[in-house]
Amino acid sequence: DRYLKGLDKSKKTFGDRLRRLANGFRGVDDEFLEEVMIILLEADVGIHTAEKITARLENEAARQRLKTFDEISECLVSVMLEMYQEHTDAEVQVNENGTTVILLVGVNGSGKTTTAAKLTKTLSDQGNSVVLAAADTFRAGAVDQLARWGERLNVPCIKGRENGDPSAVLVDACRYACEHHIDYLIGDTAGRLQNKVNLMNELGKMRRVIEREIPGAPHEVWLVLDATTGQNGIQQAKVFLEATKVSGIILTKMDGTAKGGIVLAIRDQLGLPVRYIGLGEQPQDLRPFDIESYLYGICE
Ligand code: GDP
Repeated sequence: DRYLKGLDKSKKTFGDRLRRLANGFRGVDDEFLEEVMIILLEADVGIHTAEKITARLENEAARQRLKTFDEISECLVSVMLEMYQEHTDAEVQVNENGTTVILLVGVNGSGKTTTAAKLTKTLSDQGNSVVLAAADTFRAGAVDQLARWGERLNVPCIKGRENGDPSAVLVDACRYACEHHIDYLIGDTAGRLQNKVNLMNELGKMRRVIEREIPGAPHEVWLVLDATTGQNGIQQAKVFLEATKVSGIILTKMDGTAKGGIVLAIRDQLGLPVRYIGLGEQPQDLRPFDIESYLYGICE
């Protein structure tokens, strides 16, 4: 299955290494907890989250009087699962009376344009009509790249000039969507991160013009994060979160990293749901994220 194959690297560093701790297992002592900590850190869970996990594991193991390695490793998975599920997720917002607008934000290279294509495929396959808005007028080639995806996926792509005003493109796309009764508008935006004030102004303007065209929109603003950037990615994410309201994360390039623990760090440190993960460069390489199948997938 493509899903599990895409997670092979994470499985190797996390699941396989965890299982190796079974050799010479003597119980949940300091040495064992330290080993678990190292595995968590190498999976990029981050020090803060890793400390929380190991502390809980220690408590739970004592409380439930767990003895065998299998019991302990199962407990570790459930501790991670519980930590993720502590935050309750809002439902993904959908506009029942018109176009649902999803805006993709994030730094250049994180995979926004590719993700826009993947989302288009996912939503089209579910029977929805989609229009793309090429509002990344800043990165050279981004507009053409998205337009080509539009052609390939057979959906219209509204574009402006390179270096043009992204908000103008979004306005055009909103009007097109309303006129043609399109179910979803997916907006690719520019990923400039020179400073927070700029970013805030730019994203703020985009939101305002969209809201003016379609009340209640954008319905979702998803931050696209490159999983291979690890803890740096989390720092970048914080800048975006301070600049605008973000309702979810799409974690790309999960196929290229052994550091899938980043999902736990995101959850713990940003409190946002991971909506989808990217497992390749093609439109079909997107999966809704489900923490349970993910954790059991990499640990089994
Ligand atoms: P943008 O600048 O944020 O729009 O980034 P792009 O969509 O152009 O993506 C940057 C690079 O990452 C491209 O070469 C993509 O093919 C690649 N990419 C995007 N998502 C994934 C993914 O989930 N897995 C892999 N392996 N590559 C990806």
